[in-house]
Amino acid sequence: METAEIQRRFLKFFESNGHTVVPSAPLPAFEDPNLLFVPAGMVPFVPYFLGQATPEWNRATSVQKCIRTPDIDEVGKTSRHGTFFQMNGNFSFGDYFKEQAIRFAWDLTTGSVESGGLGLDGDRIWATVYLDDDEAIDIWHKQVGLPLDRIVRRGQADNMWSMGIPGPCGPCSELYYDRGPDYGPEGGPEVDEDRYLEFWNLVFMQNIRGDGPAKEGYKVTGDLPKKNIDTGMGMERMAALLQGVDNMYETDQVRPIIDKASELTGKRYGVSTSHTASESHPDDIRFRVIGDHVRSSLMLIGDGVVPSNEGRGYVLRRLMRRAIRAVRLLGYDKPAMPELLPVAMERMSTAYPELRTDFERISSYAYGEEEAFLKTLKHGTTILDTAVTETKAEGGKTLSGTKAFELHDTYGFPIDLTLEMAEEQGLSVDQEGFRTLMTEQRQRAKADAAARKTGHADLSAYWQLLQEQGPTDWKAYETLETESRVIGVLKDGRSVPLAKAGDIVEVVLDRTPFYAESGGQHADAGKIVGPSLFAEVLDVQRPVKKLVVHKVRVLEGELVLDDKVEATVDPEWRLGARQAHSGTHVVHAALREVLGPTALQSGSFNRPGYLRLDFSWRAKLSDETRSEIEEVSNRAIRDDLPVAVQYMTLPEAKDFGAVALFGETYDETVRVVEIGGPWSRELCGGTHVSHSAQIGPLVLTGESSVGSGQRRVEAATGMEAYKYLARERDLVTQIAEEIGAQRGDVLERVRAILQRTKDAERELANLQAKAVSGRAAEFAANAKQVGAVKVAAVQAPEGTKGGDVRNLAMQIRGHLPEDQPGVAAVVATAGGKASIVVAANKAAQAQHVSAQALVKAALSGKGGGNDEVAQGGGVPADQAAQLLAAVTGAITA
Ligand code: ATP
Ligand code: MG
Repeated sequence: METAEIQRRFLKFFESNGHTVVPSAPLPAFEDPNLLFVPAGMVPFVPYFLGQATPEWNRATSVQKCIRTPDIDEVGKTSRHGTFFQMNGNFSFGDYFKEQAIRFAWDLTTGSVESGGLGLDGDRIWATVYLDDDEAIDIWHKQVGLPLDRIVRRGQADNMWSMGIPGPCGPCSELYYDRGPDYGPEGGPEVDEDRYLEFWNLVFMQNIRGDGPAKEGYKVTGDLPKKNIDTGMGMERMAALLQGVDNMYETDQVRPIIDKASELTGKRYGVSTSHTASESHPDDIRFRVIGDHVRSSLMLIGDGVVPSNEGRGYVLRRLMRRAIRAVRLLGYDKPAMPELLPVAMERMSTAYPELRTDFERISSYAYGEEEAFLKTLKHGTTILDTAVTETKAEGGKTLSGTKAFELHDTYGFPIDLTLEMAEEQGLSVDQEGFRTLMTEQRQRAKADAAARKTGHADLSAYWQLLQEQGPTDWKAYETLETESRVIGVLKDGRSVPLAKAGDIVEVVLDRTPFYAESGGQHADAGKIVGPSLFAEVLDVQRPVKKLVVHKVRVLEGELVLDDKVEATVDPEWRLGARQAHSGTHVVHAALREVLGPTALQSGSFNRPGYLRLDFSWRAKLSDETRSEIEEVSNRAIRDDLPVAVQYMTLPEAKDFGAVALFGETYDETVRVVEIGGPWSRELCGGTHVSHSAQIGPLVLTGESSVGSGQRRVEAATGMEAYKYLARERDLVTQIAEEIGAQRGDVLERVRAILQRTKDAERELANLQAKAVSGRAAEFAANAKQVGAVKVAAVQAPEGTKGGDVRNLAMQIRGHLPEDQPGVAAVVATAGGKASIVVAANKAAQAQHVSAQALVKAALSGKGGGNDEVAQGGGVPADQAAQLLAAVTGAITA
């Protein structure tokens, strides 16, 4: 049974049993500041489970896209762990409970294929339950008919579910399928989790847990007022069972990627004939890593994540690098993403059609990242080669742990690559030293994470306010001033009755004109005043949907709960904000007009006078392109295009051609902002000017790279743009005055000055060289007799260049008598270093006085050349005299 069919049957089964089908939330966990990605189907429903919000339905079902980063190291080594997977769930909010949940799961899994079920053999299913959950055992045994020897009791760590912190918890019951003796030893899930494959977890959320360790060792402190059901069936695991394959990487959604990789590399997948994942050949594991990670990367970029060095972007980068690396280890060293990613897209777009329509953008990130990583590999290889050469030169056999760590840490060079490549060159690697450094680094990271954890964003106070007082009456689009009532004052996340002068607190008003930071637009600035209150607004956020929270500093008087106040946005600020935000849309449209539709915005930020926009593009913009974008933008402003706002559903907006951006979750009704009709249509909740001319001048002030395949443009808008241009003008005026030119002639004059400077420098160098060589005869005449050899030991004037030093030495030698052994030695200092050139005449060479030997004697073995001329250097400048002495000394010897 294909995965798509499993999905269809699952949703249909629960829909026909009264569940509302809820679409998957995007992979990035936008609503929960404590999570990077959604790791389970229940996450989007958390506020309902916690009683912080009330759902419109009491039964729901979904197929949720999930990412579990902790499982990354298991991929390919077990049969059942993907970084990306889909969790099919059914949920009850205070409606049905244990008995019905177990029945549903059993009926769907064992129901015949003809009747819409999944057709698993009930005789091979095992269930685990929490230690003392006799109720669940009774249901499994007496009602479902599962024999007692296939019901296993397990402890808190395995079968008591919680979110790891005080809050709801409850026993769970997991369903396992026995895949038979080929897959491992008898004895149930406790003996072998590969043979007995967990495919569904039913959580009976009925208790409250207290403080304590995340998984095991905490106390259950009470009962929830309402009992809930949360279940998760792993779609990939079910697919593996129903498709009769050994593991989740061989299912219809992933296997084609493996096959393509096998075709590319010419290596066979399935080297090991065993069904047990733990007995896999390393090549097979690599293939599975490729299949899994390529698909995960596709899904992540599809949901708006872009490669970067931190947070979500880093997870993506790591997945891509591991996949690319695995491809290389299988012997293919050309770019592989252009071959593999389309295969993943073909498989996944049945369920997620946007992957196909958005593929150009998705693939440009993926291909750009691969290109960049291949370069890293190349660069790292040079560093590694140098390190290997150095190690060998010092007679070492082991590459230091520090070097391996540096390669890993600075160049993103995986350790196994370092190992392999060092080995190719006959060196081992100090792995222990490497691991010590890695552990230290990890501990630092852990300490950082722990430090952040104490700032664990607790949203409960906000949820409570929202529950009690309802959503904020938000007037940002209509007015800059409202009469409001203080309905909440929060200090450090806790409600307080009042705040005094000097305090910084969070204030919730029943009504507000303030724009809360979102969609890249900075929060409004302004004030909140009352009869005896003056508070300055520092920041405005919406920590939970529909609740606007102002961070304020009380400057005078007291801010008291329930007081009537006036909330006023600074009009200058807001005007600047509107200009900057509309300016951002204009620049985005101009980019797309000039560069084409793939130059899609991936992030933006704007505040009064300033905007920046990140977009996908591979190359640096040329000066001409920059000017063109700037010109298109300013023309659109000059044309005074009308700015219109419309509300519609998301599908309508997409049909309308509106550009939806990532990093945002959109409600059912979306707001479309257009400038000049179809020229610029974006989903946007920001505040805008009403005609484009109000944006005022717009000046591009910068263009730079922000990670591979991503560029950033920055611009000044409105008064700031004017000021920027005025500053540039003043600068030109100053330069003109300084060089005594007319403004129009500045460039020509500067060029002329530079040329003259260059000519003068060249002239000076010539003169110096002449002056020096003019003294060659004098230096030769002053040569001293050292044994049988005439030695002219000379210190050249400071700053004499390398070529001139050599010339001087040759000229002095020319002036020494030919019929007598003669040596010219010239040292010069430049840039804090001393160098030496030695020239020996024929007679000297005939006496076995070698220039090269003399240089080597002076520089303890370093330097190069031949018997006639030789040179070397690199020693500190204050050793110049010693070099000459050493040469003389060597001649005597
Ligand atoms: P395991 O112990 O096998 O890692 P789990 O106990 O972590 O599984 P749950 O948190 O109970 O799994 O998740 C519910 C279901 O989601 C599991 O029964 C399984 O079918 C599926 N699942 C969990 N993690 C993964 C994963 N990394 N890849 C694929 N499916 C998964
Ligand atoms: Mg797990």
